[in-house]
Amino acid sequence: MTATRVLVLNSGSSSVKYQLLDMADGTRLAAGLVERIGEETSRLRHEPLAAGGDSRERTGRIADHEAALRAVSDELSADGLGLDSPELAAIGHRVVHGGLKFTEPTVIDDAVLAEIERLVPVAPLHNPANITGIRTARALRPDLPQVAVFDTAFHTTMPESAARYAIDVETADRHRVRRYGFHGTSHAYVSRATAKLLGKAPEDVNVIVLHLGNGASASAVRGGRCVDTSMGLTPLEGLVMGTRSGDADPAVIFHLTRVGGMSIDEIDVLLNKKSGLVGLCGDNDMREIRRRIDAGDEQAALAFDIYIHRLKKYIGAYYAVLGRVDAVVFTAGVGENAAPVREAAVAGLEELGLAVDGELNSVRSDEARLISPEYARVAVAVVPTDEELEIADQTYALVGKENS
Ligand code: AMP
Repeated sequence: MTATRVLVLNSGSSSVKYQLLDMADGTRLAAGLVERIGEETSRLRHEPLAAGGDSRERTGRIADHEAALRAVSDELSADGLGLDSPELAAIGHRVVHGGLKFTEPTVIDDAVLAEIERLVPVAPLHNPANITGIRTARALRPDLPQVAVFDTAFHTTMPESAARYAIDVETADRHRVRRYGFHGTSHAYVSRATAKLLGKAPEDVNVIVLHLGNGASASAVRGGRCVDTSMGLTPLEGLVMGTRSGDADPAVIFHLTRVGGMSIDEIDVLLNKKSGLVGLCGDNDMREIRRRIDAGDEQAALAFDIYIHRLKKYIGAYYAVLGRVDAVVFTAGVGENAAPVREAAVAGLEELGLAVDGELNSVRSDEARLISPEYARVAVAVVPTDEELEIADQTYALVGKENS
């Protein structure tokens, strides 16, 4: 029997998202989420996609990541898809920060794990949870290949001119301060899918990808390679996000420290958790913000305008970076669903060859699609992202290569 299944794990500090895929035909066999790990109110929601039937839910304390993975394993076993199955080829782990070292998906051994740990100082919020997920999965199936797929890897092709901050080189290098970029699996998947939508090879197209979810980032992709992206040392830089400020003068931090009397930790929370859309208007869900705007709420309207203004600036900047643009593509929760965001982001850019067709833009669909009118020089597209499929693909390809 050939092992063709890949389990994808995305381990956060208090959550684990998972999907089991069959790479023989790309079908999703099961999916789910464990939330609030370590609390009394933990919850596991399991969707038995292949086995059929309604989604199942367990509530009650799940003490740690190991207990969470065991619970996931039990749910999969109940569907006849257990972690002990000989059909499981590998586990693919999303790892947020791969630094400069990891430019490709990598089979995890002790040395790789140690290297991911060495990156904790540059990704203190993310890498520790990813490491816990890897350790737990390795303990459960020590014999199985486990692969790390890094959020930063796609961006390692950025030239130094885009990747470096203009700060003292010696200080920057000593502390590994540079722009790494994130959401890389999404930018890779979506830029490739956009080329396919245009009927072209990835090497032949230049694309601006706008990944607009609760976290948001833009990237400029030339011929399949990332040449710039909006997130930097951490996922705080760039676009206005659900709860993160995106770009702000770094002196805001000095000012809030010296004049506002705030501590560094307080400012960290302010900029990462209490800013962006939530800081501007109290809501970070674009659906709610649109409802409030429709009801005449000026605070929500201003938050929307600030969000769109920043987005436009990045479209313009990346247009200039690329020189020639074949497509601007929207993805993730906001990008895939919020037609008013897409319309407003492209409005007034006709001179750049960009336009959105109102009717095409208002169609709701899960498919990759063009929303620009036929006459437009640059395609505008909506391409649903699929980070799990991309992680599974990369994992399976690597394991297949190792075995051949
Ligand atoms: P993500 O991080 O990609 O899961 O995106 C989550 C965000 O997508 C939510 O916070 C909402 O702002 C947005 N979103 C999801 N569904 C819709 C929708 N139907 N219309 C507008 N925004 C949406």
